[in-house]
Amino acid sequence: MLIILEKKFKESQKQTLLKLLVENGSKFRDTTFNGRQVIVVSDVSSGKISSGIAKVPCIERIVDVNEPYQLCSRNAKSSDTVIKVQDFKIGGGEFGVIGGPCTVESEKQTLDIAVQVRKAGATALRGGAFKPRTSPYAFQGLKEAGLKILAKARAETGLAIVTEAMSCDEVMLVAEYADVVQIGTRNAQNYRLLEKCGEVRVPILLKRGFSCTLEEFLMSAEYILAGGNDRVILCERGIRTFETYQRYTFPAGSIPALKMLTHLPLVVDPSHAAGRVEFVPSLSYAAAAVGADGLLVEVHNAPETALCDGRQSLLPKEFAAMVKKCKKIVKLLHDKD
Ligand code: PEP
Ligand code: MN
Repeated sequence: MLIILEKKFKESQKQTLLKLLVENGSKFRDTTFNGRQVIVVSDVSSGKISSGIAKVPCIERIVDVNEPYQLCSRNAKSSDTVIKVQDFKIGGGEFGVIGGPCTVESEKQTLDIAVQVRKAGATALRGGAFKPRTSPYAFQGLKEAGLKILAKARAETGLAIVTEAMSCDEVMLVAEYADVVQIGTRNAQNYRLLEKCGEVRVPILLKRGFSCTLEEFLMSAEYILAGGNDRVILCERGIRTFETYQRYTFPAGSIPALKMLTHLPLVVDPSHAAGRVEFVPSLSYAAAAVGADGLLVEVHNAPETALCDGRQSLLPKEFAAMVKKCKKIVKLLHDKD
């Protein structure tokens, strides 16, 4: 149950409400959401609270949510959440394209790719400075030096920067440089890290854990929203199944399902799902066709020498052609016939 307070309320009234909830023995969390103060009550529905609680004057409305995730739920907010940073807009019909290398390798590599993805229609640049690698011997990223290169790419191109953080300390550091902090699939259920993401004031791109159900995925997002950061972009990047032909399996049906369950914008990462460049365009077209709000795609100007994930990276010209087609698919779906 969500208790949404009026835009302007007296603190004393809110304290009365919280006191009544304590007396009621309710479990609740006080947070901000959609520009409002909201009390998330996790153990009762409106039919079960005392009439005294419902009558406290600072309450604008009480919303019952039947799912364990509450602030993420469609019931919490009727309109789609739109996230906007620099020229990057996503959600509510805005198809946002994020392109760039798996990892920041050098200033020249990053700036060259940034200019080309911008030309191709991307409005955000991706690139890892802190890399989660399966092998401890693999390239781990340029760390803060990489963040500085990304900031330079933003200054030169106007692209918003999306880059990953893997620890609580890294979230704070990455948030100083980036426009969107990415939380990777391996950390999708690192709850202390998600709480830290709730404290920062930059949007978070949260990848689906490769073994998470949709409900678990939304519960992870709920951690961030409950912490007070309601600017979350969900990212479907493929899940692990019995099939090993592609790196992961892209579950196309998760897109319309998530669009029904949540107001949060949702992008698809076809690169990590496919693991092989030849499948990336097809998965992107599928993503656009099933209603994704955008894409996060790996692009490299010399994939064969890339330090990470070259096998799944598109060349800039391939990316440009693909983005053009995706936009046509989105337009076709939005056209009223
Ligand atoms: C990435 O985007 O480079 C990445 C490591 O993705 P994931 O967490 O989905 O594997
Ligand atoms: Mn990668």
